[in-house]
Amino acid sequence: MTLLDFPGHVACTVFLGGCDFRCPYCHNYELADGTAPSLMDEDGLLRFLEKRRGLLDGVAFTGGEPCLHRSLPDLLSRVRGLGFLTKLDTNGMHPELLSRILQDRLADYVAMDIKNSPEKYAQTAAVSGPCPPQIHESIRLLLSGDTDYEFRTTVVEEFHTASDFEAIGAWIRGARRYFLQPFTDRDTVPFGGLHAPSAESLQEYVRIMRQYVPESSVRGMDL
Ligand code: SF4
Repeated sequence: MTLLDFPGHVACTVFLGGCDFRCPYCHNYELADGTAPSLMDEDGLLRFLEKRRGLLDGVAFTGGEPCLHRSLPDLLSRVRGLGFLTKLDTNGMHPELLSRILQDRLADYVAMDIKNSPEKYAQTAAVSGPCPPQIHESIRLLLSGDTDYEFRTTVVEEFHTASDFEAIGAWIRGARRYFLQPFTDRDTVPFGGLHAPSAESLQEYVRIMRQYVPESSVRGMDL
């Protein structure tokens, strides 16, 4: 159960394994690389939720990357059929599935990661090549759609600078809301030696972002 993963709702979180990216600061790396054993199948999840009707009001789907699972729209539909609200966390790499989910109104809220400026996107997500075009398309879908959403960036001192936030701001200009999430270290993070930015840096970054997205803030901090 979580009060944090689906803000404003008492929810449970469903972690779906596999991911397109290999972010060095990932908290769920055993899910991202698919080595975590499965704890529950879809029918088991639905039975679990049926018993919790009236106790939970939402279900947050996260990962890994939930959109790697082609059955996700059907699963969202079945969960909504039980009367739950649904939230989708995504890395933005599957705009075709995201488009279907938005069109069919299968998610009440979408949170999409913005890993870094376009120039540093692939480096930050540990993939080769330029910023994947799918990220541009997923941003466009959320900006132009009518499903409630947020963009968010996990901010790591070693990866992000003020000029990156100028580029991110220009990229998602006019978005509904944006959160900076300071990196926190954990024993599941695959890459050592990473740090959260200082409070001064976060203040500067949020000031930059508010020029483009007025509803920008640092999650969990009053800056
Ligand atoms: S996109 Fe998310 S789940 Fe995938 S590697 Fe990056 S932080 Fe981990």
